[in-house]
Amino acid sequence: MTCSKKTGLYIHIPFCRSKCSYCDFYSKIESESTVSDYVSAVISEIKSRERFSQYISGNLLIDTIYFGGGTPSLLSCDDFSRLMRAIRENTTVTDDCEITVECNPSSVSSQLFDTYKKTGVNRVSIGLQSAIDEERKILGRVGTKKDVTKAIELCKKSGIDNISLDVMLAIPNQTEKSLCKTLSFCNESGALHISAYILKIEKGTLLYDTKKELNLPDEEKVCSLYELCCDKLFEYGFQQYEISNFAKDSFCSRHNLKYWTLEDYIGIGPAAHSFFGGKRFYFPPDTKLFIDGIQPISDGFGGGIDEYIMLNLRLSQGIDLDEMSRRYGIESVTKIKEKAIEFIPDCLLEIHKNRLYLTRKGFLLSNTIISELIN
Ligand code: SF4
Repeated sequence: MTCSKKTGLYIHIPFCRSKCSYCDFYSKIESESTVSDYVSAVISEIKSRERFSQYISGNLLIDTIYFGGGTPSLLSCDDFSRLMRAIRENTTVTDDCEITVECNPSSVSSQLFDTYKKTGVNRVSIGLQSAIDEERKILGRVGTKKDVTKAIELCKKSGIDNISLDVMLAIPNQTEKSLCKTLSFCNESGALHISAYILKIEKGTLLYDTKKELNLPDEEKVCSLYELCCDKLFEYGFQQYEISNFAKDSFCSRHNLKYWTLEDYIGIGPAAHSFFGGKRFYFPPDTKLFIDGIQPISDGFGGGIDEYIMLNLRLSQGIDLDEMSRRYGIESVTKIKEKAIEFIPDCLLEIHKNRLYLTRKGFLLSNTIISELIN
């Protein structure tokens, strides 16, 4: 398939300095030489696109690039520059391309931010999680609130103002008061985007082993923390555009919107997923295998109606029923409306101007509601 459609590019950097206690992302603590070998493997992939050849051919037109992890800010200035050079030399990067790097506040410097600026990075996502150091400690985050403040200052000084902060809800011992402090920190920092995730303690994480001893909020408390977060961020001028994402003005994450609106994106690196030309494929979560040249694995066709419903309902604007009718036929709209009726009296779903969307209360029960709509 020849590509002329605008495509998102995701580069996974699977390395961290230490493992956070709640983390179940694919990331490892590796030596500097492995990091460098890995960057070389990503570059040769971008240059040859040998492994993607069965899925993609032709020139790639890239309008969003996202370096996620792991900890992309662990890459040296040289490694990051050669990665960006390879992308620019081997694809067509649009002039208005959104280029995001996820940063850990404990692994940044003014040189690194200057390198980002020089190479075209225009958006930085910083892992705050909490502005309360005791809460950061429980999460196993390296560094303190002071380090986050410093990272934000350095980032702005380099000329990158589009900053997103990650916030965690339902941390053990978190209170309404401590969450308000974190959100007020976000507001004062001048961040333009906030991602606020509810902590889920997954099997295999460090927190999982001590789960019983933790002072975890019950369901009611989690709901009240989420609602408080939405209210406070609204008061500070952030519009909620997705279950967990809030932005000022038009500073939504254009890259992440591609995932929810079923646009094309290519993921490079272990555990990175792609959706391109209606097909899904992914690399297995193994850095060594990636360096050795493993092929991406097919995950079948994507973009079916269930996926469409599930992803679009994550967005505040919900499903455009006219578009759904064009894609999947008028019967699909009739069916979903019939099922939605059950949730409308309880103010969990709404239909307005031919859009079907979850309310804030509905967002909290999104899994249950979506699976009912899909069944
Ligand atoms: S920095 Fe991010 S990817 Fe790395 S261990 Fe912590 S949560 Fe996981």
